[in-house]
Amino acid sequence: IKDIQDVRNLMRTVPDFPIKGIPFLDILPIFQNPKAVDFIINCIVDHINSTKEKIDVVVGLEARGFLFGPIVALRLNAAFVPARKKGKLPGNTINVEYQKEYGVDIFEMQEDAIKQDQNVIVIDDLMATGGTAEAAGKLVKKLGGKVLEYVFLVELAVFDGYKKVDAPVYSVLKY
Ligand code: IMP
Repeated sequence: IKDIQDVRNLMRTVPDFPIKGIPFLDILPIFQNPKAVDFIINCIVDHINSTKEKIDVVVGLEARGFLFGPIVALRLNAAFVPARKKGKLPGNTINVEYQKEYGVDIFEMQEDAIKQDQNVIVIDDLMATGGTAEAAGKLVKKLGGKVLEYVFLVELAVFDGYKKVDAPVYSVLKY
């Protein structure tokens, strides 16, 4: 793996997934190649470090945000907090409803997971419309945290998802 093009070449588009007519970008092959994972994580960590802000919490979005979030959190010496689909988290939670392509979904976070004024980044594998990221941002805000940046491996640029969220977007790759 010498550059971002090599990472791009590891991904593949699966036609008609999860339903007919949708071309699904499959990022999972990247995880068969540790050098590619290392390359991506370095891109993200170098970018965050260049902003000079101390990150307190990395919020990873279920499910593929869990593949990147803990590694990035460890490298930033930050906490990792999952945002999960409804009903998965024990104890007291807060939630937010958001629109998916078909119907609504609900994201939850544990209510003590973020403290007042903590600096947060939100991370997921891919941003399309930005609706998922926007929902996660609302949860962080409800808990008193401040989202400094939304971070993705891939941004599907045609959707202009960055317009939906209230902080800058960093993506390793744009499609
Ligand atoms: P958004 O809310 O429209 O931005 O959709 C982003 C969410 O859907 C993320 O949680 C992604 O993991 C998932 N997603 C949508 N399309 C794809 C795709 O082509 N590949 C992988 N994940 C996708």
